[in-house]
Amino acid sequence: MYRSMMLINGERVEGASGRFDVIHNPANQEPVAEVAIGDVIDAVKALEAAQHAFPGWSSVSPKRRCDLLHDAADLVRERADRIAELLTVEMGKPIRDSRREVLSAADSLDYFAEEGLRNIGDWISTGDTRSIVIKQPVGVVSLITPWNYPVELLAWKAGPALAAGCTAVAKPSSLAPVAATEFVMAINDAGLPPGVLNIVHGSGDTVGAELVTNPISRKISFTGETSTGIWIMEAAARNLKRVSLELGGHAPMIVFDDADIDAAASACVRRAFGNMGQVCISVNRVYVDDAIAEDFTEKVIRRTLGLRIGDPLDPEVDLGPMVSEAQRRKTREHIEDAVNKGAQILCGGREPDGFARGYYFLPTVLKDVDHTMRIMREETFGPVAPIMRFCGEEDAVRLANDTQYGLAAYIYTNSLRRAVRTAERLEAGSVGVNVGSVIDHHAPFGGWKQSGIGRELSHRGLDEYMEIKHIRLGL
Ligand code: NAD
Repeated sequence: MYRSMMLINGERVEGASGRFDVIHNPANQEPVAEVAIGDVIDAVKALEAAQHAFPGWSSVSPKRRCDLLHDAADLVRERADRIAELLTVEMGKPIRDSRREVLSAADSLDYFAEEGLRNIGDWISTGDTRSIVIKQPVGVVSLITPWNYPVELLAWKAGPALAAGCTAVAKPSSLAPVAATEFVMAINDAGLPPGVLNIVHGSGDTVGAELVTNPISRKISFTGETSTGIWIMEAAARNLKRVSLELGGHAPMIVFDDADIDAAASACVRRAFGNMGQVCISVNRVYVDDAIAEDFTEKVIRRTLGLRIGDPLDPEVDLGPMVSEAQRRKTREHIEDAVNKGAQILCGGREPDGFARGYYFLPTVLKDVDHTMRIMREETFGPVAPIMRFCGEEDAVRLANDTQYGLAAYIYTNSLRRAVRTAERLEAGSVGVNVGSVIDHHAPFGGWKQSGIGRELSHRGLDEYMEIKHIRLGL
């Protein structure tokens, strides 16, 4: 069985407890890896290693950091098959998608390698003084990540943190720590000085909380549930630490009557069911103009029934299992609640036949939904597309914004005016118009309302790891 260790000060280590956890494959419940269990002592050691490494790493030239990050990206690509396979067996993502995730993580490292070179300040002349404004690394940062994109989301943090000159301690989710750890090992093996990037395992309540509260870390970069993010922000406030919080989402998709219905239906199926709906920017609510609702719904169902469900290691498979029984139970509960309040199941709504040992669930399309239902208000994080009709632009925008979340939203229309008008009114950090994804390394990603604070990706993602300093020169 595969053994996943922690990385502290450049050394692959077991935890202080000497104990290991076993990770089971959600597709068949077979054991796939042993993972060193960390505790608070390990978190403190890792923070101290990062603190020790900070003066050296922050004064390395940006070009040297850039070269190292490119080397790290190359090594991640070289090991992509292995990392992707581990990712698939620990959390159930189809191998094609796992491979895409790992390669995209390598691209993130390349992107931030270059972005780190563009650490540009200001020079302001005021007569007899000069003001120089520079950006400097925040210090030691804690990078806390969830299980649904364990490699890519860590890359979105480790890339800019290292490029900025910060040193870091990463903590992946206990549900999927293995591929993330391999990713960190690859970055380290590219030649990072010891202590620059560390990874510890363990529960959020102990190891995670230590990374948040210990005064050594100056900033917490967190991706996960909104409730955890709120706790982290409160705890970090005691030391006035910087926080970046990428939290839950409940993305609406609005399909107007002038939309390309085929394109909208394809995007809907991909975005609602990809990674079994366990994506913060999944389409969670579909609003379709009454005039085209029937046609659109029929196309969504046809495409949904064409999805291939099976062993996620099979490269032909579109959908694997969900990550855990708890996640599947929540999905079932949300569907039951909707049905009890009048929703109709058009397809799915149950486990598929023949997969008794895995956490499989059929992609599900609902109609006759409304905003009294949990599925239209709470994050399901499961493969469900609830379709609701609207009448007119005003109605669509009102429904889409009727949520505590504000991460992503999608619009399908062939009217440029309507696209711009609607995009500007939607309360979300990213709006996709006639596209099924809002992720681009060059553009900022983050949430409004209870979906978070701060931005990842783009030059703004790098700025999150920098402090600004004004140096005033008297002449
Ligand atoms: P989670 O909040 O349960 O856990 C995320 C991480 O936080 C894990 O590593 C966990 O161990 C750690 N953690 C838990 N309690 C902690 C504490 N008290 N102190 C410090 N760390 C703690 O989230 P999850 O279930 O792993 O992930 C799913 C959630 O993540 C969903 O809500 C999803 O929307 C969200 N998410 C958001 C984005 C985004 O970019 N906005 C991306 C992916 C996932």
